[in-house]
Amino acid sequence: MCVCDHQLSLSVKIPYIRVVGKALGMNLQIKEVQAKSILTPQALGSLSRGYDYSLNPYGGCAFRCSYCYVPKFPNAHHSPQEWGTWINVKVNAPALLQKDRLKVFGSRIFFSSATDPYQYIELKYRLSRKCLLELLRYQPAKVTMHTRSHLILQDLELLKAFGNRLQVGVSLTTNRDDIRSEFEPSAPSIGRRLNLIRTLSKEGIRVYASVAPLLPCDPDELAELLARHVDKMWIDRMRWAEVNTRPHLIEKYKVFFEERNYRQAIERLASRVHLINEDEIDSSMLLGTTS
Ligand code: SF4
Repeated sequence: MCVCDHQLSLSVKIPYIRVVGKALGMNLQIKEVQAKSILTPQALGSLSRGYDYSLNPYGGCAFRCSYCYVPKFPNAHHSPQEWGTWINVKVNAPALLQKDRLKVFGSRIFFSSATDPYQYIELKYRLSRKCLLELLRYQPAKVTMHTRSHLILQDLELLKAFGNRLQVGVSLTTNRDDIRSEFEPSAPSIGRRLNLIRTLSKEGIRVYASVAPLLPCDPDELAELLARHVDKMWIDRMRWAEVNTRPHLIEKYKVFFEERNYRQAIERLASRVHLINEDEIDSSMLLGTTS
Protein backbone atom coordinates (compact mmCIF):
# COMPACT_ATOMS: atom_id res chain seq x y z
CA MET A 1 0.00 0.00 0.00
CA CYS A 2 1.12 3.52 -0.63
CA VAL A 3 2.42 5.39 2.33
CA CYS A 4 0.96 8.70 3.29
CA ASP A 5 3.13 11.59 4.33
CA HIS A 6 0.39 13.88 5.50
CA GLN A 7 -2.49 12.67 7.59
CA LEU A 8 -5.55 14.50 8.76
CA SER A 9 -8.06 12.84 11.01
CA LEU A 10 -11.55 13.29 9.59
CA SER A 11 -13.58 11.37 12.09
CA VAL A 12 -15.65 14.44 12.89
CA LYS A 13 -15.92 15.78 9.36
CA ILE A 14 -17.61 13.01 7.45
CA PRO A 15 -20.78 12.15 9.32
CA TYR A 16 -22.10 9.93 6.52
CA ILE A 17 -19.23 7.51 6.90
CA ARG A 18 -19.57 7.58 10.64
CA VAL A 19 -23.24 6.64 10.25
CA VAL A 20 -22.34 3.77 7.93
CA GLY A 21 -19.64 2.61 10.33
CA LYS A 22 -22.04 2.78 13.23
CA ALA A 23 -24.67 0.84 11.33
CA LEU A 24 -22.11 -1.87 10.69
CA GLY A 25 -21.11 -1.92 14.34
CA MET A 26 -17.68 -0.55 13.51
CA ASN A 27 -15.60 2.21 14.96
CA LEU A 28 -13.92 3.35 11.77
CA GLN A 29 -10.97 5.70 11.81
CA ILE A 30 -11.03 7.69 8.59
CA LYS A 31 -8.06 9.75 7.47
CA GLU A 32 -7.48 11.79 4.37
CA VAL A 33 -3.93 11.28 3.23
CA GLN A 34 -1.63 12.53 0.51
CA ALA A 35 -0.14 9.44 -1.12
CA LYS A 36 3.37 9.61 -2.50
CA SER A 37 2.41 7.43 -5.43
CA ILE A 38 -0.68 5.62 -6.66
CA LEU A 39 0.61 3.19 -9.30
CA THR A 40 2.56 0.45 -7.58
CA PRO A 41 4.93 -1.31 -10.03
CA GLN A 42 4.52 -5.07 -10.20
CA ALA A 43 7.78 -5.96 -11.95
CA LEU A 44 8.85 -8.25 -9.12
CA GLY A 45 5.66 -8.75 -7.15
CA SER A 46 3.01 -11.41 -7.17
CA LEU A 47 0.99 -9.58 -9.82
CA SER A 48 3.93 -9.34 -12.16
CA ARG A 49 2.86 -11.94 -14.71
CA GLY A 50 -0.37 -10.21 -15.60
CA TYR A 51 0.06 -6.59 -14.58
CA ASP A 52 2.36 -3.63 -14.70
CA TYR A 53 0.77 -1.77 -11.79
CA SER A 54 -1.72 -2.14 -8.98
CA LEU A 55 -3.90 0.79 -8.00
CA ASN A 56 -5.32 1.18 -4.48
CA PRO A 57 -7.23 4.44 -3.93
CA TYR A 58 -7.81 3.55 -0.30
CA GLY A 59 -5.55 2.10 2.35
CA GLY A 60 -7.26 -0.35 4.66
CA CYS A 61 -10.59 -2.02 4.06
CA ALA A 62 -13.74 -1.92 6.11
CA PHE A 63 -15.07 -5.22 4.74
CA ARG A 64 -13.01 -6.97 7.43
CA CYS A 65 -12.62 -10.39 5.83
CA SER A 66 -11.13 -12.77 8.37
CA TYR A 67 -8.82 -14.32 5.78
CA CYS A 68 -7.53 -11.06 4.25
CA TYR A 69 -3.82 -11.32 3.49
CA VAL A 70 -3.23 -7.56 3.29
CA PRO A 71 -2.41 -7.01 6.99
CA LYS A 72 0.29 -9.63 6.54
CA PHE A 73 2.11 -7.65 3.88
CA PRO A 74 5.66 -6.91 4.96
CA ASN A 75 4.97 -3.18 4.78
CA ALA A 76 1.69 -3.32 6.72
CA HIS A 77 1.80 -1.09 9.75
CA HIS A 78 -1.18 -2.55 11.54
CA SER A 79 -1.73 -5.84 13.30
CA PRO A 80 -4.33 -8.21 11.84
CA GLN A 81 -6.58 -7.50 14.81
CA GLU A 82 -6.82 -3.88 13.76
CA TRP A 83 -7.60 -4.66 10.15
CA GLY A 84 -10.98 -3.29 9.11
CA THR A 85 -11.07 -0.50 11.67
CA TRP A 86 -9.27 2.19 9.67
CA ILE A 87 -9.30 3.62 6.16
CA ASN A 88 -6.81 5.98 4.61
CA VAL A 89 -8.36 7.97 1.79
CA LYS A 90 -5.74 8.84 -0.81
CA VAL A 91 -7.41 12.05 -1.84
CA ASN A 92 -4.72 12.95 -4.37
CA ALA A 93 -5.04 9.64 -6.27
CA PRO A 94 -6.65 11.16 -9.40
CA ALA A 95 -4.03 13.93 -9.49
CA LEU A 96 -1.26 11.34 -9.20
CA LEU A 97 -2.71 9.47 -12.18
CA GLN A 98 -2.64 12.69 -14.20
CA LYS A 99 0.96 13.14 -13.22
CA ASP A 100 1.76 9.51 -14.15
CA ARG A 101 -0.23 9.52 -17.38
CA LEU A 102 2.71 8.27 -19.44
CA LYS A 103 2.89 5.21 -17.19
CA VAL A 104 -0.84 4.62 -17.59
CA PHE A 105 -0.73 4.60 -21.38
CA GLY A 106 -0.59 1.01 -22.65
CA SER A 107 -0.19 -0.47 -19.17
CA ARG A 108 -2.03 -3.31 -17.40
CA ILE A 109 -3.56 -2.24 -14.13
CA PHE A 110 -5.06 -4.26 -11.27
CA PHE A 111 -7.60 -2.15 -9.39
CA SER A 112 -7.40 -3.01 -6.44
CA SER A 113 -5.03 -5.47 -4.79
CA ALA A 114 -4.99 -4.30 -1.17
CA THR A 115 -8.38 -2.75 -0.59
CA ASP A 116 -11.87 -2.96 -2.02
CA PRO A 117 -12.26 0.01 -4.38
CA TYR A 118 -16.02 0.02 -3.85
CA GLN A 119 -16.23 -0.31 -0.09
CA TYR A 120 -18.83 2.02 1.39
CA ILE A 121 -16.53 4.99 1.80
CA GLU A 122 -16.54 5.27 -1.98
CA LEU A 123 -20.02 6.76 -1.61
CA LYS A 124 -18.45 9.74 0.10
CA TYR A 125 -15.24 10.24 -1.86
CA ARG A 126 -15.88 8.70 -5.31
CA LEU A 127 -12.15 8.15 -5.55
CA SER A 128 -12.45 4.95 -7.57
CA ARG A 129 -14.74 6.70 -10.00
CA LYS A 130 -12.35 9.63 -10.33
CA CYS A 131 -9.43 7.27 -10.90
CA LEU A 132 -11.38 5.39 -13.56
CA LEU A 133 -12.08 8.66 -15.33
CA GLU A 134 -8.37 9.44 -15.38
CA LEU A 135 -7.51 5.94 -16.60
CA LEU A 136 -10.02 6.25 -19.41
CA ARG A 137 -8.41 9.48 -20.47
CA TYR A 138 -4.90 8.03 -20.54
CA GLN A 139 -5.67 4.70 -22.24
CA PRO A 140 -4.30 1.70 -20.35
CA ALA A 141 -4.17 -1.60 -22.26
CA LYS A 142 -5.99 -3.57 -19.59
CA VAL A 143 -7.83 -2.83 -16.38
CA THR A 144 -9.09 -5.46 -13.96
CA MET A 145 -11.49 -4.24 -11.31
CA HIS A 146 -11.77 -6.55 -8.33
CA THR A 147 -14.51 -6.10 -5.76
CA ARG A 148 -17.10 -7.62 -3.49
CA SER A 149 -19.35 -4.61 -3.82
CA HIS A 150 -22.45 -3.79 -5.82
CA LEU A 151 -21.49 -0.11 -5.55
CA ILE A 152 -19.39 -0.57 -8.67
CA LEU A 153 -22.66 -0.51 -10.60
CA GLN A 154 -22.85 3.21 -9.92
CA ASP A 155 -20.04 3.49 -12.47
CA LEU A 156 -21.51 1.08 -14.99
CA GLU A 157 -21.41 3.52 -17.91
CA LEU A 158 -17.82 4.31 -17.13
CA LEU A 159 -16.91 0.63 -17.05
CA LYS A 160 -18.57 0.17 -20.42
CA ALA A 161 -16.54 2.99 -21.90
CA PHE A 162 -13.40 0.85 -21.57
CA GLY A 163 -14.86 -1.86 -23.83
CA ASN A 164 -12.91 -5.10 -23.88
CA ARG A 165 -9.96 -3.56 -22.11
CA LEU A 166 -11.77 -3.87 -18.78
CA GLN A 167 -12.94 -6.89 -16.83
CA VAL A 168 -14.48 -7.20 -13.39
CA GLY A 169 -13.71 -9.92 -10.90
CA VAL A 170 -16.47 -10.38 -8.36
CA SER A 171 -15.51 -12.18 -5.21
CA LEU A 172 -18.12 -14.72 -4.12
CA THR A 173 -16.85 -17.26 -1.63
CA THR A 174 -19.95 -19.15 -0.49
CA ASN A 175 -23.65 -19.49 -1.27
CA ARG A 176 -24.57 -19.02 2.40
CA ASP A 177 -25.12 -15.56 3.82
CA ASP A 178 -24.66 -16.77 7.41
CA ILE A 179 -21.15 -17.93 6.47
CA ARG A 180 -20.50 -14.68 4.63
CA SER A 181 -21.44 -12.67 7.69
CA GLU A 182 -19.05 -14.68 9.86
CA PHE A 183 -16.02 -14.56 7.55
CA GLU A 184 -16.74 -11.26 5.74
CA PRO A 185 -18.82 -9.43 8.36
CA SER A 186 -19.13 -6.06 6.65
CA ALA A 187 -19.08 -7.06 3.00
CA PRO A 188 -22.20 -7.01 0.80
CA SER A 189 -24.60 -9.93 0.90
CA ILE A 190 -24.47 -12.92 -1.42
CA GLY A 191 -27.66 -11.72 -3.09
CA ARG A 192 -26.16 -8.34 -3.89
CA ARG A 193 -23.05 -9.93 -5.36
CA LEU A 194 -25.04 -12.35 -7.49
CA ASN A 195 -27.09 -9.45 -8.73
CA LEU A 196 -23.85 -7.62 -9.49
CA ILE A 197 -22.53 -10.54 -11.53
CA ARG A 198 -25.86 -10.83 -13.34
CA THR A 199 -26.03 -7.13 -14.15
CA LEU A 200 -22.44 -6.85 -15.33
CA SER A 201 -22.87 -9.88 -17.54
CA LYS A 202 -26.15 -8.60 -18.97
CA GLU A 203 -24.60 -5.22 -19.68
CA GLY A 204 -21.79 -6.79 -21.67
CA ILE A 205 -19.01 -6.28 -19.15
CA ARG A 206 -16.52 -9.15 -18.99
CA VAL A 207 -16.90 -10.69 -15.55
CA TYR A 208 -15.42 -13.63 -13.71
CA ALA A 209 -16.11 -15.06 -10.28
CA SER A 210 -13.38 -15.21 -7.70
CA VAL A 211 -14.08 -17.97 -5.18
CA ALA A 212 -11.05 -17.18 -3.16
CA PRO A 213 -10.97 -18.64 -0.69
CA LEU A 214 -13.72 -21.22 -0.85
CA LEU A 215 -15.68 -20.93 2.39
CA PRO A 216 -18.13 -23.43 3.89
CA CYS A 217 -20.93 -23.85 1.37
CA ASP A 218 -23.03 -26.21 -0.65
CA PRO A 219 -20.68 -26.50 -3.63
CA ASP A 220 -23.42 -27.76 -5.95
CA GLU A 221 -25.67 -24.84 -5.14
CA LEU A 222 -22.82 -22.35 -5.44
CA ALA A 223 -21.86 -23.85 -8.80
CA GLU A 224 -25.45 -23.63 -9.95
CA LEU A 225 -25.64 -19.96 -8.99
CA LEU A 226 -22.36 -19.09 -10.69
CA ALA A 227 -22.80 -21.20 -13.82
CA ARG A 228 -25.83 -19.15 -14.81
CA HIS A 229 -23.87 -15.96 -15.17
CA VAL A 230 -20.14 -16.55 -15.50
CA ASP A 231 -18.13 -18.90 -17.64
CA LYS A 232 -14.89 -18.31 -15.81
CA MET A 233 -14.03 -18.75 -12.20
CA TRP A 234 -10.97 -18.79 -10.01
CA ILE A 235 -10.93 -20.96 -6.92
CA ASP A 236 -8.42 -20.79 -4.17
CA ARG A 237 -8.03 -22.49 -0.84
CA MET A 238 -8.35 -20.96 2.59
CA ARG A 239 -4.85 -20.20 3.80
CA TRP A 240 -5.87 -20.04 7.40
CA ALA A 241 -2.58 -20.72 9.01
CA GLU A 242 -1.02 -17.61 7.50
CA VAL A 243 -3.81 -15.13 7.49
CA ASN A 244 -7.00 -16.05 9.27
CA THR A 245 -7.80 -13.65 12.10
CA ARG A 246 -10.74 -15.61 13.54
CA PRO A 247 -9.38 -19.07 14.40
CA HIS A 248 -12.63 -20.09 16.08
CA LEU A 249 -14.27 -20.16 12.63
CA ILE A 250 -11.79 -22.75 11.44
CA GLU A 251 -12.61 -24.84 14.47
CA LYS A 252 -16.33 -24.33 14.01
CA TYR A 253 -16.18 -25.50 10.39
CA LYS A 254 -13.37 -27.98 10.74
CA VAL A 255 -15.33 -30.77 9.03
CA PHE A 256 -15.71 -28.67 5.88
CA PHE A 257 -12.05 -27.61 5.98
CA GLU A 258 -10.76 -31.14 6.59
CA GLU A 259 -8.42 -31.84 3.68
CA ARG A 260 -10.42 -34.57 1.99
CA ASN A 261 -13.77 -32.81 2.32
CA TYR A 262 -12.32 -29.50 1.23
CA ARG A 263 -10.75 -31.00 -1.87
CA GLN A 264 -14.02 -32.68 -2.77
CA ALA A 265 -15.93 -29.40 -2.40
CA ILE A 266 -13.45 -27.68 -4.72
CA GLU A 267 -13.75 -30.49 -7.26
CA ARG A 268 -17.55 -30.38 -7.24
CA LEU A 269 -17.50 -26.65 -7.79
CA ALA A 270 -14.87 -26.91 -10.50
CA SER A 271 -16.87 -29.50 -12.39
CA ARG A 272 -19.58 -26.97 -13.20
CA VAL A 273 -17.80 -23.77 -14.18
CA HIS A 274 -14.72 -23.41 -16.35
CA LEU A 275 -11.72 -22.97 -14.12
CA ILE A 276 -9.28 -20.30 -15.08
CA ASN A 277 -6.02 -22.15 -15.33
CA GLU A 278 -2.61 -20.73 -14.70
CA ASP A 279 -2.06 -19.85 -18.35
CA GLU A 280 -5.25 -17.87 -18.61
CA ILE A 281 -5.31 -16.43 -15.18
CA ASP A 282 -3.92 -13.14 -14.19
CA SER A 283 -1.22 -14.03 -11.74
CA SER A 284 -2.82 -11.66 -9.26
CA MET A 285 -5.39 -14.25 -8.49
CA LEU A 286 -2.83 -16.73 -7.41
CA LEU A 287 -2.91 -14.73 -4.23
CA GLY A 288 -6.38 -16.02 -3.69
CA THR A 289 -7.83 -13.09 -1.80
CA THR A 290 -7.28 -10.13 -4.01
CA SER A 291 -9.24 -6.90 -3.80
S1 SF4 B 1 -9.99 -9.58 1.28
FE1 SF4 B 1 -10.37 -7.72 0.05
S2 SF4 B 1 -12.48 -7.07 0.62
FE2 SF4 B 1 -11.76 -8.49 2.22
S3 SF4 B 1 -10.85 -7.14 3.81
FE3 SF4 B 1 -9.18 -7.79 2.44
S4 SF4 B 1 -9.02 -6.13 0.94
FE4 SF4 B 1 -11.03 -5.94 1.93
